[in-house]
Formats: sequence, C-alpha cells, structure tokens
Amino acid sequence: MAGETVVIAGGGQGGFQVAASLRQAGFDGRVLLIGDEPELPYQRPPLSKAYLSGQSSREMLSLRPEQFYADQQIELLAGERVTVIDRHRRRLQLASAGELGYDHLVLAVGARNRALPVPGADLDGVLGLRTVADADALRERLKGARDVAIVGAGFIGLEFAAVAAAQGLNVQVLEAARRPMSRAVSAHTSDYFTQAHTQSGVKFNFGACVVRLHGSGGRVTAVEIAGGQRLPADLVLVGIGVIPNTELAIAAELATGDGVLVDEHLVSSDPRVSAIGDCAQYPSRFTAGLIRLESVQNAVDQARTVAARLVGNGAPYAKVPWFWSDQGKLKLQIVGVIAGHDATVLRGDPDRGGFSVFCYRGGKLLGIESVNRPADHMVGRRLLSDGIGLTPEQAADEGFDLKAHAATPAKPSEHVA
Ligand SMILES: Cc1cc2nc3c(=O)[nH]c(=O)nc-3n(C[C@H](O)[C@H](O)[C@H](O)COP(=O)(O)OP(=O)(O)OC[C@H]3O[C@@H](n4cnc5c(N)ncnc54)[C@H](O)[C@@H]3O)c2cc1C
Repeated sequence: MAGETVVIAGGGQGGFQVAASLRQAGFDGRVLLIGDEPELPYQRPPLSKAYLSGQSSREMLSLRPEQFYADQQIELLAGERVTVIDRHRRRLQLASAGELGYDHLVLAVGARNRALPVPGADLDGVLGLRTVADADALRERLKGARDVAIVGAGFIGLEFAAVAAAQGLNVQVLEAARRPMSRAVSAHTSDYFTQAHTQSGVKFNFGACVVRLHGSGGRVTAVEIAGGQRLPADLVLVGIGVIPNTELAIAAELATGDGVLVDEHLVSSDPRVSAIGDCAQYPSRFTAGLIRLESVQNAVDQARTVAARLVGNGAPYAKVPWFWSDQGKLKLQIVGVIAGHDATVLRGDPDRGGFSVFCYRGGKLLGIESVNRPADHMVGRRLLSDGIGLTPEQAADEGFDLKAHAATPAKPSEHVA
C-alpha cells in the first residue's frame, strides 16, 4: 500500500481512527477522511450524558483539534458526502459534484436513527439523538419542557431519562418490551435499572406500543399508546434503535445483510473495500453467527485492525466486545455478548451499590454486566479475551480472587472457540 490512496467514507469514531492509526503505523500515502457532518470528527457518547446535561463543552467532544489533521497530513473533507462508489473505476462521487480515486476504500458510514412509524411522528418537539445537532436541539428543548416522553428504553432512552429527571421534569418511558435494555442485558440488570430510575422519579410503561402522537398548532402535546391511553408530552425523544447505512454499499453491489458484510479481516465482498463500526456485520468468535455492534470499542478496534492490514500487518479481528452506559449515578459496563445466556450468577450486593452479573450458557461464560464495579469489568475483559474459564461457583464466591485468576494463563481447553 506504500504511496497509495486510502479514502475513508464517514468521519465519525471509526473513520477518524482509521486515519489516525494509518499515520501512527507510518503509512506514507494519501489519507482522505470524508464526513457529511460539518464538525470536526467527534465522539457521540457525551451527547446523551455530560454534553446533554451541560456539564461538558462542545470542544471536549472533538476527537482531535483541527491542527491534528494538518500535522498528520489527513485530508479532512467535513460537510462532504460520498454519493456513489464506482468500484470498477475505483472512484467515488461526492455530493459537491467532485470525484475522487482510491486504492482502498474504508466504509465507516455508521448508522442512522430508526424513525417512529406512526402518525404525528413529524410534529415539532419529536426528536431523535444521534448527532451533536440533535443534542443541541434537545438541550434547548429540555429548558422549556415539562412532560417528557421517551419512546424506547434502550441505552440512549435511559441516559436521556436520567438527564431529564435530574432537571426535575416529568419523565415517562414507553417501551414495547417487558423490561428496559432487553436486547442487551440480563433481566437482573434490567430490573435493577428500572428500580433505580423509578427512585429518581422516572415512570415506566412496559408493553406499551405507541400508535400515534397528537399535537396542537403543529407541536406535540401527547403520546397515544395501544388501548387508547394518552400521555401528555411537550417533548418526545424517540430512541428505538438504528439502521446501518448500507445504501452506498447496496448501490455498489457489495454484499450486505444487517450491515455491510465483511470477513474476519473486515474486508467486504470487494477486496479493495473494508467496512467497520456501526455499518459493518462481521463474524465474531464471541457469537455463533454474524454480528453488528454499536459501540466505541467496536469502531475503534476495527479501525485499528484495518489500518494495520493496510500497512502489511493483517490479522483477523478478534477483540472482545465491551460497552458502557452512564445513567445518572450508575455506571454500567458490559463485556462479551450475553445473548442466549441460560444462567446468571450475581457477585456483589445490589443494595450496596455495586454488583456484577456473570452470564453463562451451558456453563460457559458469555459476558459480564457490572454496575459500579469497574474492577470486575476489567477482569472480565481479560478472562474473555484470553479464553480463561470461570465456573459459576468461582464467580459467585466473593472470596475468590478474580484478578489473580485472570492473570493465570488459559489451559488450551478453556480457549473460546
Ligand atoms: C447519543 C449516543 C450515545 C452513545 N453512547 C455510547 C456509549 O456510552 N458507549 C459506547 O460504547 N457507545 C456509545 N454510542 C455508540 C457509538 O458512538 C457508536 O457505536 C460509534 O460512534 C460508531 O462509530 P462509527 O464510526 O461506526 O459511526 P459514527 O460515529 O456514527 O460515524 C459515521 C459518520 O459517517 C457519516 N456518513 C454517513 N454516510 C456518509 C456518506 N455517504 N458520506 C460521508 N459521510 C457519511 C455520518 O454522518 C457519521 O458522521 C453512543 C451513540 C450515540 C448516538
């Protein structure tokens, strides 16, 4: 790849990291980073946490100051959009009508919010949260709001609920499932968070299917759920998940599924095109089939893997997935993928603030959810990445030294398949 051109479509967490890691690894070709948002590449997690609550500034969101891009000879095209990939000519069309050639293309185009498919979803006061522009709009709206309805009790919905409740607003969370974060965490952790948010004044409505939003003068005034009940709302946050941005890839006839399909090296069906982060679906050694993850860890580690390959140090992507979510005073950290677990073991004391839930399937540790127990989380990362076994009895025994156990080399039989 020496002297060649790498173009990165998408100037978010993953796209930025590919560019930075290429330079760090000594790549001497051209690096172009094209992002359709007008800002310098920035991190999204604070948008639903410290930035939303006004505790951190806009400057703190930026992954690097502007000078970094000049110093690293990264050509940043902010506010520019890739509109077409011509794989045969290895050229991209841009929204500004320009064209660009590439030797290797990295798709890091992320995902977009799923729209609420009900009448009234376009009323003023109904918002999503993905970008800094969304967060700015929500910050403003929170100032004048009284009744806040949140559709979807996922991570973003609950983080938003914590911020809104801390501002003394009347907060209702409407969730179609029977518990919050149900796709990502165990029932134990869901229940704990339901209780904690309830104590902070948040009201939950589980099994609630939103069927219509009502308004007056174009502004939202209420949310109607199946059965006819109407809940007053002058601000509605829709947090019902995201859809990977695959349109460019589909138009270019790249293989796609729930994301751009890539192999264990994160290469798409075209060897000149890689895909990473929220937009990529890949085979993981931590799950039975393909997976698409939405986390900073995933975007950053995949970016590093691609950059290393492009400078000749290719290796399969094999990082253990981990994630965090800050909800008020509660810091949730998850390592591994717990989908399909059939048993859980509790370590610590939920009543005294900190605990971890170890999730097993067939006696094999799949993942750990830690609440205000960062040490367990760090040990968990080590156990899962190194394939070190941990029995449910050991996990449950507070006297068992997890840290020392994680430091022991794995026996071959303990390695994750
Ligand atoms: C509010 C919020 C809070 C979060 N909190 C956490 C958290 O606490 N912990 C955690 O681990 N993760 C969190 N995440 C998830 C994490 O931020 C994402 O997983 C991560 O940003 C994914 O990186 P990415 O590069 O794949 O996508 P993104 O960071 O979304 O970047 C993709 C970029 O590509 C741009 N783009 C799309 N199409 C084109 C095109 N055709 N041409 C040019 N540019 C294009 C997009 O506009 C976007 O700027 C949060 C996400 C949000 C929205």
